[in-house]
Amino acid sequence: MHKNTFFDCLAGLTSGFTPVVDAGFFMGDYVHIDLSVKNRELGGQELASPEKFNDYLSKYLQKSGKKVAYGGYHEKRGLYNRSNLFSAAEKEGLDRNIHLGIDIWAEENTPVLAVLSGKLHSFQDNSAFGDYGPTIILEHRTENYIFYTLYGHLSRQSLSSLEIGQDFEQGEKIAELGGASENGNYVPHLHFQVIKDLEGKRGDYPGVASEIGIRFYLKNCPDPNLLLKIH
Ligand SMILES: [Zn+2]
Repeated sequence: MHKNTFFDCLAGLTSGFTPVVDAGFFMGDYVHIDLSVKNRELGGQELASPEKFNDYLSKYLQKSGKKVAYGGYHEKRGLYNRSNLFSAAEKEGLDRNIHLGIDIWAEENTPVLAVLSGKLHSFQDNSAFGDYGPTIILEHRTENYIFYTLYGHLSRQSLSSLEIGQDFEQGEKIAELGGASENGNYVPHLHFQVIKDLEGKRGDYPGVASEIGIRFYLKNCPDPNLLLKIH
């Protein structure tokens, strides 16, 4: 018996590199970026404001000779300290700072693509400071599973003509990346997350978890790179 058949099922749904953003990027244009508390170059200053982080990101891409930075699944981050949306308690282990999606750092207005065929489950503008901003959730069905993909930090315009239940084909454009004024005040990027059980939520689902909840969330939100296969 397999240890986790849902993870295996996900991995089998794409056969190679499957883009979730497209501005003509190839897999060779991607470079991994570490935004965890272990990255000594990030003293807090770099992540405190979109302007400073944008400088850091530009230099990082320039140095690597790549176009798109990605990463962040199961990454413990310091950057959420800027918003009290996430730091719910002083007690150790309760801060929500472990990231459950993959972030793809690309320019504002970059097209966002459906990673798998599916239908529109829900959408919402989660407009609090530090939140997702405009967000889309697609529903996918396989023989054995129903699960969801969440696309966050989109442009407001992306939500203007959506209909619940509408079908999207794999690779079809579903949205565009939003700018800092509409995406929760971040440097433009996509937050992409796979969710098995939405727990009744619509247009929103936690993208970060605390140490205490992490065991459940890592099972419920597998590594999105099982689908994207950026290696
Ligand atoms: Zn994210």
